[in-house]
Amino acid sequence: MALKVVIKKEKVDDARPRQSARDDDKTEIEARILELLRKYPKGINDKILETHMPNLDIQIRVDVINDLLTKKKMKLFQAPGTNELFWGLNEQPVSIKLKEVDKEENVVMRIIEEAGNKGILNKDIRDQSGLNLTTINKILKALEGKNLIKSVLSISVAKIKVYMLFDLQPDRSVTGGSWYTDGEFESELVDIVNQQCYRMLQQKAEAAKLKAMDGPLIVRNASFLSSKEICQMISDMNIVKFNLTVEEIEAILETLVYDGKIEMRMVSDGDERIKTYRIVETLLSSAAIVRIPCGVCPVIKICGTAGEVQPKNCVYYDQWLD
Ligand code: SF4
Repeated sequence: MALKVVIKKEKVDDARPRQSARDDDKTEIEARILELLRKYPKGINDKILETHMPNLDIQIRVDVINDLLTKKKMKLFQAPGTNELFWGLNEQPVSIKLKEVDKEENVVMRIIEEAGNKGILNKDIRDQSGLNLTTINKILKALEGKNLIKSVLSISVAKIKVYMLFDLQPDRSVTGGSWYTDGEFESELVDIVNQQCYRMLQQKAEAAKLKAMDGPLIVRNASFLSSKEICQMISDMNIVKFNLTVEEIEAILETLVYDGKIEMRMVSDGDERIKTYRIVETLLSSAAIVRIPCGVCPVIKICGTAGEVQPKNCVYYDQWLD
């Protein structure tokens, strides 16, 4: 198992060279913080940031927040009726940006703005604007040159470019999230993270059994790990070279839940609801059940208490019981 991890570490370095650069990291973190600000229109505080990005280096976090405040993309404000400070979104209204463009560009910008962070295809812009495709492609190029819009390869539209406002973080349905690189699903990496998550929960369950003297409920409760803890442990292993978020690790854990290998339980931590997980221990191995000879027997139709093929002289059972 450990060997596999080492192999993957090299593969990820190769597959994601952009992730290793500090500036690229900052750009990605900046986009994630902006995405979080859109998700929480009332603003975010340290606790929310910490929950969603638990592995974020403090110095990088301070730098990125200062950059966002300097660029006026984010604002600091005091929550009404409290002394608590929050960061909120301070996006420049598109109407200000539209002063920089001509009439036809203005029409295209409006259509792209309406599409939000899911983006829009140039063919759909043509249908909505009434302009021909050649003109639209020219306008799109000009708007991209002015950093007012950007094109993103969409995994949901057969890897075709969609267009969205420059400042927007593409929706996960467009990029596929961090488990995709240039539109390609990182199945090998996901498999390794999946295995590591399961192994951690196994180890947690084994450690919990040492508390058997305290009773089954204590053992059960001690066998849970929260998605935030698992996220931190996976990040510490350096299997992935990007800033893993709790949501991304929860997506992996969800596949284990669907496979029936682990179970999920929601718990409260103050105002917050947290997902916790533990392995599911079955009393009987399902593999043994599906492998019983009768389940896959080629002569089951002629097997009975009389005749040539009978359970009492079954060779398949002899082999299986050996
Ligand atoms: S008892 Fe043996 S021969 Fe009969 S159905 Fe089962 S496996 Fe097949």
